[in-house]
Amino acid sequence: MYHHVKDLMYTVRVDTPDPKFGNMLLEQFGGANGELAAAMQYSIQGLNCDDPARKDMLMDIGTEELSHLEIVGTLARMHLKPMKTSRKAAEADPLIAIAGGGGVGLCNSMGDAWTADYLKITGELDVDLRSNIAAEARAKIVYERLINFCEDPGTKDALQFLMTREITHMMAFTAALESMGKDRFTIGKIAPTAGLVDQYFNDSTGTGEGGDSDARGPWNQGGNWEYVQAPAFQEFKSEKQGTRTTDSLADLADAVGDGNSAEHTEKPRIGARRATETKHAKSRKEN
Ligand code: MN
Ligand code: MN
Repeated sequence: MYHHVKDLMYTVRVDTPDPKFGNMLLEQFGGANGELAAAMQYSIQGLNCDDPARKDMLMDIGTEELSHLEIVGTLARMHLKPMKTSRKAAEADPLIAIAGGGGVGLCNSMGDAWTADYLKITGELDVDLRSNIAAEARAKIVYERLINFCEDPGTKDALQFLMTREITHMMAFTAALESMGKDRFTIGKIAPTAGLVDQYFNDSTGTGEGGDSDARGPWNQGGNWEYVQAPAFQEFKSEKQGTRTTDSLADLADAVGDGNSAEHTEKPRIGARRATETKHAKSRKEN
């Protein structure tokens, strides 16, 4: 059951209306990371939720997002309103001025209509909670950018409130996910394929003109990681399992050209393709 109370969740004050900024604010009204998207996503996830405690949380936060929508809409309206009567103000966004009379509509800052495609609702609670944590992070950074582009103290004050609440929600969703006691990498019920799951594919190789090259870090080394060099050029270790052989770094340097040998300096990638084609052609012949 929904009920509207004629009080904003946070008092809104605009000292100097800024129609261009009002347009930017629409990103949090009818945009991809905006308040309506958040309200709909959490409330609808709540309808699907069989866990009564976390359903309560989803409905609490989903409803709070509707109150945020009301704040952002009120703020945006205050900034956009001069467009209705002032030609100069109307130039900030002719669509809002001419078609919308200086009011807020369910569109983003580019005038694109709000869409349910923004929503991430999978019906799997832990998966949905991960989406919500990411959604709150996106909402936070959008508010931060709005604050940085805002010159009106009253507006900044309200945006600081809204930005803070997104971090509060992120903390609640994170605690709700962690308290489910699920292993971080266990999603659903079917186990991933052993071996393949630990293979990191180095699918982008060579050295870019800007000096960018292959990087190693905890995302591809240490623990159970098995680093597979350029799998497109590697044989299957197990075709059934989808695993690839893991040639040594030296072998790869030779195969894709490390720029050290005169032979590969000019066109290392073409050299690599030729070397591999030869290798595959040879193995097909042998079979
Ligand atoms: Mn919000
Ligand atoms: Mn939120």
